[in-house]
Amino acid sequence: MISFEHALSKLLFLANRIDVEEVNLEEAYSRVLANEAIASRDQPPFDASSMDGYALKKIDKLPNKKLLVVGKVAAGKSFKGTIKKGEAVRILTGAPVPSGANSILIQEDAEELDNFIKIRQKVEKNDFIRKKGCDYKAGKILLKKGKILRSFDIALLASMNLPLLKVTRRPRVSIISTGDELVAPGNLPKKNQIVASNTYGLKALLNKWGATSHILPIARDNKTSLEKALDLAVPADLVITIGGASVGDHDYVSEVFNKIKVKHSFYKVAMRPGKPILAGKNNSTIFVGLPGNPVSALVCAHLFLKPLIGKMLGTNELNNIEKKGLLQNDLPKNAVRKHFMRAFLKNGQLAVSKKQDSSLLSVLQKANALVIRQPNEPSAKKGDLITYIELD
Ligand code: AMP
Ligand code: MG
Repeated sequence: MISFEHALSKLLFLANRIDVEEVNLEEAYSRVLANEAIASRDQPPFDASSMDGYALKKIDKLPNKKLLVVGKVAAGKSFKGTIKKGEAVRILTGAPVPSGANSILIQEDAEELDNFIKIRQKVEKNDFIRKKGCDYKAGKILLKKGKILRSFDIALLASMNLPLLKVTRRPRVSIISTGDELVAPGNLPKKNQIVASNTYGLKALLNKWGATSHILPIARDNKTSLEKALDLAVPADLVITIGGASVGDHDYVSEVFNKIKVKHSFYKVAMRPGKPILAGKNNSTIFVGLPGNPVSALVCAHLFLKPLIGKMLGTNELNNIEKKGLLQNDLPKNAVRKHFMRAFLKNGQLAVSKKQDSSLLSVLQKANALVIRQPNEPSAKKGDLITYIELD
């Protein structure tokens, strides 16, 4: 049995960033940027008016002053001439500031006469000009490689005139449930059967983290059935089996991994939930055997598969970040395995669930954090600062 930290580093060691593909900006949301995005142009590319009004020389912006209106410029147009002292040009928001002008008189501060304007008694001092490059300058790295693209990133990339983006291909994941007792949701379970659940939660998590995953038919508790399912699973970047990973009579996963030439990386981790977890690699496909209990499977997915998918995608945004919060209830001394306890985090306070059995999905469903207890950690009291990670 190895420590959680050792297992995680061994697992991440198996992964490389997978290949890059080009996507349309409109399809780029939530994808991982594969190279840095550099501005090729200043934004805005010219000094622009930020208001509707009149462009003029700042020295002319005086109460009661009368100015001759010599033209008009709207967004997308340009004023050909140069503004002289005593002149103004009607200007609309987003239009380039005419040459010779260095201030905008907002419309509300102008009294409009025939060919003239008269500046009102009280006048705004502000110039209302967006300077060329005030948003960003040409040559600046605006987005780093490895960024998971959010809506605002997409808007920024669009403004940079980048209609096609290089992103990491989504890792392809195959998920296999194992067990004679399992039926897929939608079937009528017999009295001694249960409905497979963790596969569905796992698929949702993996897809949220940026993979495309699919659930294969349930493998039964015999080697042939599992081998058949694994045959369907490859090619994939990652194959995940659930259940059958302990040492019971019906636990074949480790043996079948060996048979299909998966080079084992580790088997069994000193953690709760989820001791029976194993991983290995065959060619470029990583194999992970998760424990069958729903909570164990989903907690292990969070702890191991989230950063693994992150490494495959070339981003560190999927690493679990340890934070500190205030404990709301007393906790007993921890045993020898590192314990990830289901908890509910609200306003920096962590209520650790009383029930920590690894089969209890209804408890996991309410949890939004895992409180982390180190091996043999002494008891903790309400009000203590405690380490946790957030759950998706
Ligand atoms: P195993 O690791 O195969 O011994 O499974 C441990 C427990 O998890 C057993 O009670 C199984 O019935 C249950 N289990 C295994 N796979 C699933 C699954 N896909 N969905 C829900 N429960 C499961
Ligand atoms: Mg089983």
